[in-house]
Amino acid sequence: MKAVILDGAATARAILGETAHRVRALEARGVVPALAVIVAGDNPASQLYVRNKTRACAEAGVRGERIALAADADPSELLAIIAALNADPRIHGILVQLPLPPHHDVGAVIEAIAPGKDVDGFGTAHLGGLVAGRPHLAPCTPAGVIELLDRYGIPIDGRDVAVVGRSNIVGKPLAMMMVARGATVTVCHSRTASLAAHTRRADIVVVATGRPQLVTGDMIRPGAVVVDVGINRLPDGRIVGDVDFAGAAAVASHITPVPGGIGPMTVAMLIANTVTAAERASAPAAASVSLA
Ligand code: NDP
Repeated sequence: MKAVILDGAATARAILGETAHRVRALEARGVVPALAVIVAGDNPASQLYVRNKTRACAEAGVRGERIALAADADPSELLAIIAALNADPRIHGILVQLPLPPHHDVGAVIEAIAPGKDVDGFGTAHLGGLVAGRPHLAPCTPAGVIELLDRYGIPIDGRDVAVVGRSNIVGKPLAMMMVARGATVTVCHSRTASLAAHTRRADIVVVATGRPQLVTGDMIRPGAVVVDVGINRLPDGRIVGDVDFAGAAAVASHITPVPGGIGPMTVAMLIANTVTAAERASAPAAASVSLA
């Protein structure tokens, strides 16, 4: 292996440490940043992600509140909880852990969160702000990808980037953020005719498909940077990404591991977004920048 490992776990710890300083500055003004995490049902992966998020809250000094909802809870119950949290001035961030049980309307749930408290940045107010270059909270996973590249000094401006995956929470917003940073971006998806032709041209390849080891070493240009967003549990229990790590690491200049790459970065960006939301809500001139 010759690639430099982009250590998301260590970088996330550094970000949480920096965020803790911002929390102390807020506390000095009597503001305790708080994140409410709503989890419906008992999906084991969701439970694990929520545990990671509340642990990261504690690390940064953010108050984390976990609200559990039965798997068969009525959609109106979830919307009522969100409305109450929207109105509660002690809560600065609201996150609904996805996926929701199928009887919920995910779009309606996301849009029910007040934009000023939508710290996942999934609502159309934030996605619109992101596209238009106006104030917004960036979705946490794409923000984590950009932040990790920045902290390793990997340039984005002028680079050719291939983003594999076009979901609303990863691929699409990441593509827009890369464009805003001066990259030339190709967005690939399940209908892309020749995936390898696109990835082989790219200086930076970001993969977010949920397809274990879809991208192999021969699809990477020697010296390219590889960012693997995927988190997949194999039947034997192993966690792997969407990239064949050994194959890609043999040709890439830099690569993220799974686990320990974009996963912890996503959580760190969530906590940073929560503190940003608390700063905006409590700023003397809050009205002028408020997204609420
Ligand atoms: P989605 O299922 O919403 O989207 C997957 C995307 O991949 C779709 O755009 C799909 O194309 C595309 N795709 C599927 N198969 C192929 C293929 N064979 N070739 C090219 N493109 C393909 O997934 P998410 O974006 O929510 O998540 C992607 C992965 O990232 C998952 O493994 C998920 O667990 C992980 N993830 C990790 C996070 C983290 O914190 N590290 C956070 C969020 C997600 P089409 O649109 O045509 O169907």
